[in-house]
Amino acid sequence: MEEIPFGPGSIDPAGDDAVLPFEVNGLDVRGRAIQMGPALSALLARHDYPLPVSKLLGEAVVLAVLLGSSLKFEGQFLLQTQTDGPVDMLVVDYRTSGDIRAYARFNKERVAEMDVDGLSKPELLLGKGILAMTIDQGEFTSRYQGIVQLDGVSLEEVAHLYFSQSEQIPTLVRLAVAEMMTREDGGAAHSWRAGGLLVQYLPEASIGVQRDLPGGDAPEGMEHQAEEEDAWAEATSLVSTVEDHELIDPDVPAERLLYRLFHERGVRVYDSMAVREQCSCSRDRIQGVLGSFSAEEITSSIEDGEISVTCEFCGQKYSFDPQEFLG
Ligand SMILES: [Zn+2]
Repeated sequence: MEEIPFGPGSIDPAGDDAVLPFEVNGLDVRGRAIQMGPALSALLARHDYPLPVSKLLGEAVVLAVLLGSSLKFEGQFLLQTQTDGPVDMLVVDYRTSGDIRAYARFNKERVAEMDVDGLSKPELLLGKGILAMTIDQGEFTSRYQGIVQLDGVSLEEVAHLYFSQSEQIPTLVRLAVAEMMTREDGGAAHSWRAGGLLVQYLPEASIGVQRDLPGGDAPEGMEHQAEEEDAWAEATSLVSTVEDHELIDPDVPAERLLYRLFHERGVRVYDSMAVREQCSCSRDRIQGVLGSFSAEEITSSIEDGEISVTCEFCGQKYSFDPQEFLG
């Protein structure tokens, strides 16, 4: 753990595509920050989505990384939406190894009609439905699933809603995604950048302590609670000053942003965790899935004499000889 910054050059910035955990002792706040660059560009370049869809998926990726990187054991964090809007499904798969992959399913015509609104408010592309967060930590533990209802809710609000409903942890999330055009030799180059900040209020005093109801029989507790509320109010107002461009700006690394927000309250950062764009699909795995199909299902999947499967996450195409499965 390092206090930031002791002076210019005293700390190496985590850089792009690395989750930076931090804590602010003076405010009982913990959280994680990230700036994404090449990994997000590579992920979105796998697909040829309309701009607003890429932007929305980018937000979902940052949110999944901010939430999934809290897992203490090896595992998978899956964020999935199912809604009635122009984008009816988003899937983001984050592994604690740092591997990330994602895709969106959408109706092209409906997205085109929404272009203007969709760009300024990506959540309008989702419509009504649910967002599910699934944590899978291997075969010896049970899967955990949390659900948030979506109805015009931005992805920034999802974590706040989820943590206030399920665990009563005050939580704030900021997300920003932008398409970048840079001039390079031989023309303009296109890339994506994103930034995210998750802040949670976790006072030590509240751990294991039952909070009394308003007017309850706990006079000492009330005073304590008032202090707590002040600390969270301060954290909230500091985070609300963060502008989208600050979250994305390569010249404002996450450390600098955290310092700007919290240095008066003693902000410390932990070791960062790298994120990379990496699909986990393989020929073996798909072969295994096809192997569980009935002869009828195999026969009906044959096209031009072969069975062809395209990975929705990365676009990789796998072709099989039907005879492999019709023995
Ligand atoms: Zn794949």
